[in-house]
Amino acid sequence: MKRNFLWDAIIITSLTALLVGGVAWPLQQATWGIENKLDTTEVTGNQFDAPTVTLAAVGDIMLSRKVGRFIDQNGTDYPLREVAGKLAQADITFGNLESPIGTGGSRLPGKGIWFRAEPRTVSSLVYSGFDVVSVANNHALDYNSEAFLETLSNLKDNKIHSVGGGENIAEAREPVIIEKNGLKIGFLAYSEMADIIWSFQYPRRLMATEDEAGIAPAAATGITDVDSDPYVQTVLKDVEDLVPKVDVVIVSLHWGQEYNYEPLDYQRQFAYRLIDAGVDLIVGHHPHTLQGLERYKQGLIAYSLGNFIFDQSFSQQTSEGLMLEAILSPVGVKTATISPIFIKDAQAQVAEGETANRINGITARLSQELGLDFGWQSARPVLSLKDEGVKI
Ligand SMILES: [Zn+2]
Repeated sequence: MKRNFLWDAIIITSLTALLVGGVAWPLQQATWGIENKLDTTEVTGNQFDAPTVTLAAVGDIMLSRKVGRFIDQNGTDYPLREVAGKLAQADITFGNLESPIGTGGSRLPGKGIWFRAEPRTVSSLVYSGFDVVSVANNHALDYNSEAFLETLSNLKDNKIHSVGGGENIAEAREPVIIEKNGLKIGFLAYSEMADIIWSFQYPRRLMATEDEAGIAPAAATGITDVDSDPYVQTVLKDVEDLVPKVDVVIVSLHWGQEYNYEPLDYQRQFAYRLIDAGVDLIVGHHPHTLQGLERYKQGLIAYSLGNFIFDQSFSQQTSEGLMLEAILSPVGVKTATISPIFIKDAQAQVAEGETANRINGITARLSQELGLDFGWQSARPVLSLKDEGVKI
């Protein structure tokens, strides 16, 4: 949300390195690093004339249940205290808000798990500089339309954009467009599981309709073929409408199989269709575990950033996630860095030492399986891209 002095420092450091001839530095080569922090030697050259915007993106943020109890004991800033500075440094900070924030409504019959965070918890998002959150997920309607609409107004009152939900389907499909440093960045958000009827006694789906509040659907439950899926086609239509209006298109997708390290086949096909339609970055979440990254044409796909703030301390896998930091430019995602995240007692921390090495290793291996190869530099996985993405 703030002007990011770190990036200025990086540019200055990199320029100095170039001037003293310490770095062999092809100007057109974009480099993607997966490491604990941005390696200043990896920044590309032509950003001196092209405008850029820095983005920080994280996965699932759930401020209810046990996280709520930690907040009661330690204050609203508690879950994000260790990462707030890093998040707020980015020009734009994004995450998936997995819990409604409000007091009203009643439990949606048949759901089985219901989240609803206290209104004061919104201040933890403000404190961390969140600019946009997706509300398109399978918990947004846990307390029905009442708490969902409260969530939207609580976010709005705190100057945080919500995307992927609204008072009706038209609103839910509306993009959020943020203009920074002369660049227009467009966000869209969708969720799987939006078409499920949870209880036949109360057949309310999570997806919005023409006259009912809800979220924007990503794909039909049980989808196998993206090209015949009506919801996928709707998402593609929204992307096609947005592409001419902005410089960079980011689509948030709440999708995939829970506790699974690999994306499903149809997700990869869906991602390729989106990128073919002009999407630059896909930010995925929902499986409660990180997944690999993939490069397709000019786009970057983060299938799942995993948990960010959650109380699933029952396994190492659900306590690990990723923070994606990207430099956006008129060509799309120019560089990207992953910071490994570890959640301890419902508090997100940037992992260090052996924990960082383990998470980086998993990310590198999973990405390699998706065709994205990492080289190792100074015990850190670093990915070099041969060609810079060209905006279609
Ligand atoms: Zn979910």
